[in-house]
Amino acid sequence: MATTTLGEFDLIARYFTRAPRRAALGIGDDCALLAPLPAGQQLAVSSDMLVEGRHFLSSVAPERLGHKALAVNLSDLAACGAAPIAFTLALAMPRVDEVFLEGFARGLFALADAHGIELVGGDTTAGPLNLCITVFGALPAGQALLRSGARAGDDLWVSHPVGGGLGDARLALEVFRGNVALPGDAFEVVRLRMECPTPRVALGQALRGVASSAIDLSDGLVGDLGHVLARSRVGATLNADALPTSAVLAGLPRELRHEYTLAGGDDYELLFTAAPGDGFAVLAAAERAGVAVTHIGSIEAAPDLRIVDGRGAALLRRFAAFDHFRAEP
Ligand code: ADP
Ligand code: MG
Repeated sequence: MATTTLGEFDLIARYFTRAPRRAALGIGDDCALLAPLPAGQQLAVSSDMLVEGRHFLSSVAPERLGHKALAVNLSDLAACGAAPIAFTLALAMPRVDEVFLEGFARGLFALADAHGIELVGGDTTAGPLNLCITVFGALPAGQALLRSGARAGDDLWVSHPVGGGLGDARLALEVFRGNVALPGDAFEVVRLRMECPTPRVALGQALRGVASSAIDLSDGLVGDLGHVLARSRVGATLNADALPTSAVLAGLPRELRHEYTLAGGDDYELLFTAAPGDGFAVLAAAERAGVAVTHIGSIEAAPDLRIVDGRGAALLRRFAAFDHFRAEP
């Protein structure tokens, strides 16, 4: 590990400071300064923290960690239908490791550049490895996609990669934990899904005015859908056999497939609802965004979630949502 005596301000200058673009003032002063949004726009703000050993394994390549730290935040903006503008980075790390910083910054800025957004400030301190990003985005006032908008009769949809599905990140985690074995090439496919999620930023914006509610999948489908049902005061029936899976996950026993797709976590796909008459608009939005979407169930007035198989028979197993204060680390 390359450990140097580079100081706090030198490392901020070397790895995180670039010329401001849209910001009136970027890194280097006590505050960043951003121009107000045009009239009729609302600011969307979200923070997500990644803690070593809890949200990522020490084995992850720094470049992928830089990507993921920003990706999980962009996923929250996507869920609201906001267009990203800028972000801040609060970073704690045990020591100045330039190999880590170089890779981390490369992954971080590659994704930032792909979305045309800039890092405008942050904080840097010594401590256990911990990354907290705050993202800022914009959207037309009153048009944010919310968890509370699902209505009885709506269709339930989920996004996924073309040819891929949910649950791959969880599958990769179980391989790391030694609970599942995969051939090397299959492992690389699911490992990439765990370490390099693609935030559905274009889809979120394309779904404004089409979806009635949305959430991004971070803690597992059943738990995240539960938030939508609670906020919208509705119930749902979900077809577990309709959930999209990658070819790798499709090769696993049905029990595991259900477990990983329904309660996997770390999918960073969008789960959303739309009126049945808006099915074509949903498909057109997905097409524009270059993402696949699958119809997986329906919203109902009767409370609670009913999970059924492809023949409509109830699945009796319970699928727990991930909860940081309840789950094993
Ligand atoms: P202050 O002491 O006023 O909190 P700092 O000395 O911590 O400010 O930071 C100096 C400048 O560097 C500030 O503009 C701050 O936003 C920026 N900064 C610090 N850490 C980071 C980081 N990890 N990424 C981006 N900018 C950072
Ligand atoms: Mg500071």
